[in-house]
Amino acid sequence: MDLERKLDILAPAAGYEACDTHSVAGRRYQSKKAAWSNAPLGTEADAKGTPRPVLRLLMSAECIHDCPYCPLQRGRDVPRATLTPEEVATAVMPQLRRYDAGLLLSTAVADSAEQSASGLVDSAVLLRTTHAYKGYLHLKLPPGVSHALIEAAARVSDRLSLNIEVPSAAHQAAIDPSRDWQRDVIARLAWMRDFQQAGLLKAGIATQFVVGAAGEDDKALLDTTAWLHSELGVRRVYYAAFQPIAGTPMADQRATPAVRGLRLTQADWLLRHYGFTSGEIAGADNPLLSLHNDPKLAWALRNPQYFPVEINTAPPEQLLRIPGLGPLGVKRILRMRTLGKLREPGHISILGAASKRVADFVLFDGKFYGTGQTMRAARIAALRPLADQLSLW
Ligand code: SF4
Repeated sequence: MDLERKLDILAPAAGYEACDTHSVAGRRYQSKKAAWSNAPLGTEADAKGTPRPVLRLLMSAECIHDCPYCPLQRGRDVPRATLTPEEVATAVMPQLRRYDAGLLLSTAVADSAEQSASGLVDSAVLLRTTHAYKGYLHLKLPPGVSHALIEAAARVSDRLSLNIEVPSAAHQAAIDPSRDWQRDVIARLAWMRDFQQAGLLKAGIATQFVVGAAGEDDKALLDTTAWLHSELGVRRVYYAAFQPIAGTPMADQRATPAVRGLRLTQADWLLRHYGFTSGEIAGADNPLLSLHNDPKLAWALRNPQYFPVEINTAPPEQLLRIPGLGPLGVKRILRMRTLGKLREPGHISILGAASKRVADFVLFDGKFYGTGQTMRAARIAALRPLADQLSLW
């Protein structure tokens, strides 16, 4: 099979690897196509946290495994191909230069995890040495790979990832008992953490869930996410919504609405940057996130006793919990407070459209100027039953 045909198979297949979708420097890289494929460029934060375009490529679509949600599972009648490291370099180098892009290279498991991961590492070494590629490199390793190969991968890449797929060993056993979640996934992520702590992997570790595949709730996903951040130092967790694939054992299972993945991403953001705990966002009483309201607004709706807060005296951590306010907005308010009292909504007009929403949750020097519109709309949305929410997407 020639290289062009292989890329026609492998580049689109890499679209299952989630990455960020925001624009880079005002340009939406999502709409761009790599010349040899229909695979859109994604976006990832590099070692400095700067979003940059990333070319995604699967090195092999041949797989010995049977993960029930996966379009590449063994035995499915789909086009298959495998690239050599030389072919990877030949294919990607012109594209990386053309788009000034980074590379996310992943693989299915053609023979063994070890052999497939070796292909990724060999490709990375070739790019770094023969082709003197110094740009962003993210290798996604298969579960079960050895410590030695993880170290070799960590020495040539900016980011390593390994897909966790489900939030617990019990969920793993329910959908695919052939994989040992603790041994093949968690222990490997812990090794990556060790290399990160040793100063490698400047862009950190990432992982990805298949949301809804195991019938898990959002509480389970967010509890595990919080643990991944705090104990394993995972910098980025992606939430890919499960989609049933014809010819797989889960073909008849209901698709997960894409908006659920978005709500989980927003909730994850609250864990990392807003001081929320997973239990506050999705607890035993509310194990599923609202699909209509973003998780911060949904939390505000459940905690009316928290509002309104006095904008002139509230500490930063309290301001951060106000719907419509992010870290940048809080910083601006704190700066404005040094200049004088904030007495009415016009004094926070620098926040733009968010200022109206913020006014619904704060007092300006003891006075409330909100319309209550934000909470009214949130309450109406929250009253809709889940089935109704799902039917919207
Ligand atoms: S190992 Fe990866 S590529 Fe293979 S079936 Fe499982 S998820 Fe799919």
